[in-house]
Amino acid sequence: MKIHEYQAKELFDRFEVPIPRGSVAFSVDEAVKVAESLGKFPVVIKAQIHAGGRGKGGGVKLANSIEEVKQVADEILGMTLVTHQTGPEGKVVRKILVEEGLDIDKELYLSIIPDRSTAKVVIMASEAGGMDIEEVAAKTPEKIIKVWVDPGFGIQPYHAREVAFRLNVGPELVKQFAVIIPRLYRLFFDYDCSLVEINPLIITKDKKLIALDAKINFDDNALYRHKDILEYRDLDEEDPLEVEASKYNLNYIRLDGNIGNMVNGAGLAMATMDVIKRAGGEPANFLDVGGGASAEMVENGFRIILSDEKVKAVLINIFGGILRCDVLAKGVVEANKKVEVKVPVVIRMEGTNVEEGRRILQESGLNLIVARDIKDAAEKISSIVKE
Ligand code: GDP
Ligand code: MN
Repeated sequence: MKIHEYQAKELFDRFEVPIPRGSVAFSVDEAVKVAESLGKFPVVIKAQIHAGGRGKGGGVKLANSIEEVKQVADEILGMTLVTHQTGPEGKVVRKILVEEGLDIDKELYLSIIPDRSTAKVVIMASEAGGMDIEEVAAKTPEKIIKVWVDPGFGIQPYHAREVAFRLNVGPELVKQFAVIIPRLYRLFFDYDCSLVEINPLIITKDKKLIALDAKINFDDNALYRHKDILEYRDLDEEDPLEVEASKYNLNYIRLDGNIGNMVNGAGLAMATMDVIKRAGGEPANFLDVGGGASAEMVENGFRIILSDEKVKAVLINIFGGILRCDVLAKGVVEANKKVEVKVPVVIRMEGTNVEEGRRILQESGLNLIVARDIKDAAEKISSIVKE
């Protein structure tokens, strides 16, 4: 799960990681109130969306008077912000963060993520922080420092000092790093984060280390033990079809192609996407209805796939094990009664009660294209969308 910068900064504050003074605002009036309470200019106004690259996209601006605060807040609130992370359609800005403007001496990069290949936690840092970190990572990876922490032993003071020494920051700042990095690590660990990132982590002109930006992602599978984090969820920022699917416990992820997929089991879903690609097609989604799906879940899955207007054809690929083929067939028939199916549907099923399933589909009078096997299914569906 992703959260907003202002929420991530609330957590930083709770763990005593220094952040600029400021507050979230949902309207121009609120933004003015926050700016007045800060008591000096410039203030920074930052669009709050679940995507980075806001600075370059025009979503981070300075204001030097209350008049300017009004003007900038009005401009950013409601704008469709397009950044390299939002896709070309962009995201509508519904809230802004209003903060004190700080005098920046240097912009650093700092993040903490799990490193699967070593089964450790890795702290990454760079002197070349700021808005071009992706380019630094791609072109000059040697400028990214990595320090690994064994999660069994936890973070030790030398980890933080090593990061600071290698960033060439001087003794006064080494002390601040030695305090802040363990706090960030504790936040990362206690909340089952999959990412804690500060870009930029700034050194101010008066030599203070402050998190100017804040990004935190959480492991969804651990959210059940962090009810306070669940309250940060912002459905406006999520794909509406993914939100709908999550209501029915469907494992649904929207993709860029035009072939809708309904599959049971994550492994079969991955394999199905592979064969579609191999046959020259592009999947519009990943949907695993689950091993033990009911007719109702199949129906909901089918409805969700069909409500994606990019979908030009649907492939149903089911291996009937726990989910029997007759149950699947009933779900498909029910879904067809409730929603108008305007696109071709190719179906391949195998397994328990497959004969019964085929009979139900045949007698339903639905216009389905039956495939012999998975390869045949992928070829049929890919040639349909190419026509
Ligand atoms: P992002 O582009 O979405 O990652 O948004 P950031 O929060 O990182 O802001 C982008 C850039 O705006 C930063 O790299 C800074 O250069 C600049 N910026 C943000 N806050 C301040 C501030 O208080 N003072 C100054 N001078 N620049 C700021
Ligand atoms: Mn940033």
